[in-house]
Amino acid sequence: MARIPLVAGNWKMNFDHLEATYFLQKLAWLLRDAKFDYRRCELALMPAFTALRSVQVLVEADDLKIHYGAQTVSVTSQGAFTGDVSADMLAQLGCSYVIVGHSERRKYHPEDDANIVDQVRAVLAAGMQPILCVGESYEERRQGIELEFAVGQVQDVTRDLSKDDVAKLIVAYEPVWAVGTGMVATPDVAREAARAIRSHVESAFGSQPAQAMRILYGGSVTSKNVQELIGQPDVDGFLIGGAALDVDEFARIARMT
Ligand code: PGA
Repeated sequence: MARIPLVAGNWKMNFDHLEATYFLQKLAWLLRDAKFDYRRCELALMPAFTALRSVQVLVEADDLKIHYGAQTVSVTSQGAFTGDVSADMLAQLGCSYVIVGHSERRKYHPEDDANIVDQVRAVLAAGMQPILCVGESYEERRQGIELEFAVGQVQDVTRDLSKDDVAKLIVAYEPVWAVGTGMVATPDVAREAARAIRSHVESAFGSQPAQAMRILYGGSVTSKNVQELIGQPDVDGFLIGGAALDVDEFARIARMT
């Protein structure tokens, strides 16, 4: 089954709504100029909540083929949860994706596995796709348990999901030591992790969801390392932080994927 690669930019807490709009306009222009084929590679951007509406307006007005989503979501649907944003609110803004369980969320917020499972369920129930982030820290890699750790995170989150829900999941393998550090994983490391995750999904849920699932690599991806990484079987695209803040670089990565 052919999986269309996904290049997703995680802007984290950067870009106000005007900067986001400017980025998107320039990206669309650069890709139009390069005759970019959006059917060959899908693009998505994850702005801060405050920029989502502006992104939606621009995407709809200019009929851009660029998807977008959020960086986290509340596990509850509405009510007295000051500061939270629900999955339905995001779906209403035209979001296709929500990043769930990013290592920065796991570190700075009380997001444990139970909370991450609930986020995944909320995203799916609202008709969007979760991008579930997993990956070991330097310590687990030093102990040689990196694959068990990353696969274990996938297992913990997917255990009680249906086969159909699992087929909608996107997994981003993002070793914590590679996120924002400039230390990209080698192609072998990315390939082994993606393969281990896919074979776990295959043994737990069968070949259909395993083959449908896109597995991204994330962690210090740039145009200098993207080509080697995308050449790896089982790596179906990227979740990009720092390099997604530079529109020329993001467009370059999209073209090379
Ligand atoms: P990075 O971030 O590309 O800056 O390493 C990746 C991410 O946090 O998703």
